[in-house]
Amino acid sequence: MRGRDTKVRMLGRLAAAAAFAAVGATAALAQTDDRYPRPTSAITGSIPNQQQSWSGEPGASGHPLMQPDAILAAVADFKNCIERMWPDAARRNISRASFERFTAGLEPDLRIMDLMDAQPEFTKAFWDYIDALVNDERIAKGRDILKQYEPTFAAVEKAYGVDRYTIVAIWGIETKYGAVAGDRPVIRSTATLACVGRRQAYFKDEFLAALEILHRGDVKPELLRGSWAGAFGATQFMPTAFKRYAVDFDGDGRRDVVESVPDIVASTANHLKKAGWVTGQTWGYEVMVPQGFNYMLADPAHRLTLAEWARMGVQRVGGGAFPRAGDRAYLFVPAGARGPSFLMLDNFRVIMKYNPAEAYALAIGHLADRLRGGGPIAQAWPRDERVLSRTERLELQQRLADRGFDIGEPNGRLGAKTRTAVRDFQARNGLIPDGFATASLLDRLRGP
Ligand code: CA
Repeated sequence: MRGRDTKVRMLGRLAAAAAFAAVGATAALAQTDDRYPRPTSAITGSIPNQQQSWSGEPGASGHPLMQPDAILAAVADFKNCIERMWPDAARRNISRASFERFTAGLEPDLRIMDLMDAQPEFTKAFWDYIDALVNDERIAKGRDILKQYEPTFAAVEKAYGVDRYTIVAIWGIETKYGAVAGDRPVIRSTATLACVGRRQAYFKDEFLAALEILHRGDVKPELLRGSWAGAFGATQFMPTAFKRYAVDFDGDGRRDVVESVPDIVASTANHLKKAGWVTGQTWGYEVMVPQGFNYMLADPAHRLTLAEWARMGVQRVGGGAFPRAGDRAYLFVPAGARGPSFLMLDNFRVIMKYNPAEAYALAIGHLADRLRGGGPIAQAWPRDERVLSRTERLELQQRLADRGFDIGEPNGRLGAKTRTAVRDFQARNGLIPDGFATASLLDRLRGP
């Protein structure tokens, strides 16, 4: 389930990539799954220019199905492609009447082909993501929502054991509390992706799941709108994720994650619970590491108990003992030794299943803490560091590979493998092995 969830969330997040690209974001952040462009969820679906048409250019992925000729051939076959999905729809107990009603007049939305293969050259720094996602406005609005729906949050917390602040933080990060949930019809987006481009098999399931939602009447057809990848509602459910996790908490017989706050809150809680949420545990802590610390230990695979970390001199910012000292955590140092450090508990991984981008998952955890009354991240970010461009990231990967470090396939995304290679290179050259790919590190790699 985990791999699939990750894929679902990532695809759901892709929607905003193009919108973010316009302001210069995406792809610099580390992640383990490098198959897709960097997901950027804060403004998922808020693509302002729906009228924008397909560029007609080949996709940056280089995939044969993203070539203009292949796309045009798929468009010519679009109606047949939809009809070929009818037997599968029938097996899902979708009536012929519903099938015809919801697919009548469907035309492919080819702009999606550009968005699917977007690979922006310039990206934001990790700290710029956090600053943009966790701001005073989002904190204030989140606190209002907590107050306004207090009985709902209390009931959902009781039923699912999932922390209310995390749910509100997801709501705030994913769609600015529903303000930017996307306005592309989900049925059209998923039909396009099921019949055109490089991910057809995957999106066929999403299209059929979207049809099921419409056939059952869970969400009003005119409100089933979302990101170009088909994620919809306040907390951006993909249609298949909706099928698995959405619940009818207000008891009206519909699982409405668009209009019903109880259904939105409980469905999001259920998603986290099914992903392994540990009741009573938070996501993690900002920590201070001691002078001379061995950063080789900052690795997701290296999990110790909080008590063990404490014995090594890792302390909570602001002091105080760790609650639940037996819980295991890994050390996360997203901007190197000159930036903040965090100990990540199992629930951070659960949030990562919801949104697999580390900056977004950290923003969700941090916003939850702020909603609870916590303060800003205490340690300074290394804001003087310049973010590497895509071309430079590719060069960095190539130069590491040339020196015999395993970075997988150079793809311009600094995932876990690249970070490990950077650390190994740093360690071998007497640098602090913090895995942070900086401009000076690239200069060093350019040397002998
Ligand atoms: Ca309901």
